[in-house]
Amino acid sequence: MIIIKSDREQQYLYDAGQIVAKTHKEVAEALKPGITTQELDRVAEEYILKQQAIPSFKGYNGFPATICASINEEVVHGIPSLKQVKSGDIISIDIGATLNGYVGDAAVTLPVGEVDESLKRLLDVTKQSLYEGINKARVGNRLFDVSHAIQSFVEDKDFSVVRDFVGHGIGRDMHEEPQVPNFGPPGRGPRLRAGMTIAIEPMVNVGTHEVETLLNGWTVVTKDRKPSAHFEHSIAITDKGPWILTK
Ligand code: MG
Repeated sequence: MIIIKSDREQQYLYDAGQIVAKTHKEVAEALKPGITTQELDRVAEEYILKQQAIPSFKGYNGFPATICASINEEVVHGIPSLKQVKSGDIISIDIGATLNGYVGDAAVTLPVGEVDESLKRLLDVTKQSLYEGINKARVGNRLFDVSHAIQSFVEDKDFSVVRDFVGHGIGRDMHEEPQVPNFGPPGRGPRLRAGMTIAIEPMVNVGTHEVETLLNGWTVVTKDRKPSAHFEHSIAITDKGPWILTK
């Protein structure tokens, strides 16, 4: 069942989303060649706790950290570690924070130091595909209009979208109905209504769309080990258009 949120609940989700947005800013400022993903995790956790919020990912299905940090061919769910990032890497940071019982969830892929033009293009296309999807998240459209907008934008640029992981409804639970795929035919799926709140999160690969999970049970990597990027916002669908809660 898709849970419709009142204006007041949407405001709670916005408040949680703003903590996520500001935590992303803190992590981006800390990111530099040589820093470990565990140090980035600590920056995020300290900031979230200081806002009287709760890191939503920590302990979720046993996930051990506050952020997911996924480097280069890692797609999502990378576990913070003593690994240092280096110039030329790209790193996807996914952050969730819960405030007053409502969850905000957003991800961004950042360049570390100087990265190749081809990687900059991957980041630009993935970020823009998120906005193409958000732009279709309007009352009266169908859910897969969002999905199709993302897929067609990405595939026009000769990249691929991951199938095995998708976006989701968001509210009191981090993962609510509906699932929000980044692929699919337009004109299908549930009709979008004011008060639906969803996390849209394209994962875009340079090579094959196929992914696999490493033996640690968490880290998802591209099957061909080529790079991948991930951008995500939580949004509310309103009569005035999409409202980005995590900006
Ligand atoms: Mg998400």
